[in-house]
Amino acid sequence: MANIQKTEAIVIKTQRFRETSRIITLFSEKFGKIKVVAKGIRSPKSRFGSSLELFTNCNIIFYKREGKDLYIISESNVIHPFTKLKNNLESFTYAIPVLEFLNLAKPKESRNPDLYKLTLETLELVEKTASKNKFQIFLLTYLLKGLRYIGYEPEFKKCIKCKCETDNLAFSIGGGGILCASCGVGETFCLSRGSLTILRKLKKLGLNRVRNLLVSKEQGREITELLKRFFIYHTGKEMKTIPEP
Ligand SMILES: [Zn+2]
Repeated sequence: MANIQKTEAIVIKTQRFRETSRIITLFSEKFGKIKVVAKGIRSPKSRFGSSLELFTNCNIIFYKREGKDLYIISESNVIHPFTKLKNNLESFTYAIPVLEFLNLAKPKESRNPDLYKLTLETLELVEKTASKNKFQIFLLTYLLKGLRYIGYEPEFKKCIKCKCETDNLAFSIGGGGILCASCGVGETFCLSRGSLTILRKLKKLGLNRVRNLLVSKEQGREITELLKRFFIYHTGKEMKTIPEP
């Protein structure tokens, strides 16, 4: 049985399929991550035009079929194409990991409106920004908040073992947070004071308010390393597109 569904979505992956079609992976507002076939999209007269290119925010109509995990898309209308973001190499480089995060992390078809909103907001901010340092801050904030929305929120205030408030710098990747001086004996991963302060701020502040934080190259590298290792440990998958700070 097929039923017609409408949703807003963001294109997060596209692959060639058969002679003239593509399989499009979308992160949708109503259904989470879905895969659809866009029939004939690679022929010049396709009704889809450029509405299903990577990053495009669109309204789609598709046929949801019980027992299948590949649906047929019948219509797509562009809300925002993110052309400027795609045409600038630097913003493109920092926006690609956002799509990679969604491709790797999200289980299929689970609605996640907070993550959807965060994704759109991040891409919009990256598109409007012209400074490399800010691209990096937006990306790190996205990854940190994104981890929360998929259920792996790192803890930076209380010791994950004894729950005391601590400023100790030992961080347990597997345990998911910082450890106080007595619980953290022997822990090998240590943050710097500056990085811990930044991580706390990135977690607390909204995307709009992180833009003015100053992150040194070394801190950027350290926070990136932490988030990458954290992601691998908890999802079993490696993010490969995050740029080196
Ligand atoms: Zn403790």
